[in-house]
Amino acid sequence: MLAEYAVRVEQSRGRRFFEPSHPYRNDFQRDRDRVIHSRAFRRLEAKTQVFTRRYSDHFRNRLTHTIEVAQIARTIALQLGLNEDLVEALALVHDVGHPPFGHAGEKALDAAMRAHGSFFDHNLHALRIVEDFEMRYAAFRGLNLTFEVREGIIKHSHDYDARQFPELAEYMLEQRPPLEAQLIDLADEIAYNTADLDDGYEAHLLTLESVCAGVPVFGRFYDEAEHTYPSVMEKLKFNEALKRLLDHMVGDLISNIQKQVQGAAIGSLEEVRACPHRLVTFSPAVELERSETKKFLYANLYFSAALDPEKNDAERVISELFDLWMAHPENLPSSYQEKARQEPLSRVVCDYIAGMTDNYIYEQYEKYCGKDNVVANTETG
Ligand code: MG
Repeated sequence: MLAEYAVRVEQSRGRRFFEPSHPYRNDFQRDRDRVIHSRAFRRLEAKTQVFTRRYSDHFRNRLTHTIEVAQIARTIALQLGLNEDLVEALALVHDVGHPPFGHAGEKALDAAMRAHGSFFDHNLHALRIVEDFEMRYAAFRGLNLTFEVREGIIKHSHDYDARQFPELAEYMLEQRPPLEAQLIDLADEIAYNTADLDDGYEAHLLTLESVCAGVPVFGRFYDEAEHTYPSVMEKLKFNEALKRLLDHMVGDLISNIQKQVQGAAIGSLEEVRACPHRLVTFSPAVELERSETKKFLYANLYFSAALDPEKNDAERVISELFDLWMAHPENLPSSYQEKARQEPLSRVVCDYIAGMTDNYIYEQYEKYCGKDNVVANTETG
């Protein structure tokens, strides 16, 4: 039941290393399963999305966020006749390249690398994980994923300049990625914009009044919920509004992709690739709501002083450990010391840190830099 513009698994450009086909799972299903069985995927459980466990242990972490993205992306894919197996594999792998401590960790690691003339990018790191760092198979390094999954890792959210990244030439940077990959970026946005309103409200960092005022579309759905359920507790009306917001964004995305595909007269995957712009977009009205929601979250949640202890920890823990291993590479695990013979030490230290969970990097920090400096890792109730 695939649409004519969907990716077909039997037309996959295949894996780096030949493998016989599996008796009852196709190649994209196998890739999805390889991601699920990877170390990097398991570590998502102990990586911060926005909130550390200082706030609550039922808030999203990177793993539960990832599962929410997969749910949303599969729903959209099914409606559009896109390849659901490829979409699921891409959704499950989309955040494996993130370092500990969420966005603050990424910023700190990038800053540390820039001091050594380089940079950190989570999509490029994710590609290194699946191509090299995961060691599960006797015959090759990495997960030996199909071309389409590797391409989606690189191209789902960002257009890389072919002149700046000649090593990515095989991914046809001048072409758009398939709709299955384009979809991941906005499914990700829908997932975190709604989830962060939810967790921010539960953490008492966002008030109902501030959300209704700052995110008018949420305010409209809240009024509807209040009208329908006037006597239930506030949180249940909040949930109703949030559910309607999520549904509203997903519904708009489905209908707008259909409209874009029709408007550009897209009849094949090749035409998706050759199209000068991405076809997975919200309608202009919902795009405005999306950007209002995001602006609100930046101003009132991501940049709020309440999350400063976590940000300060991320900055201090990552920069101090980075400098420590640069000065004392003999303290790195022997496999990383080995790697430093072939690659710049800064890249090796960066890879080591990027793979860590929040818990593990705190342990390393306590081991090398002492306990007293850590703020956010302590339970404050
Ligand atoms: Mg994400």
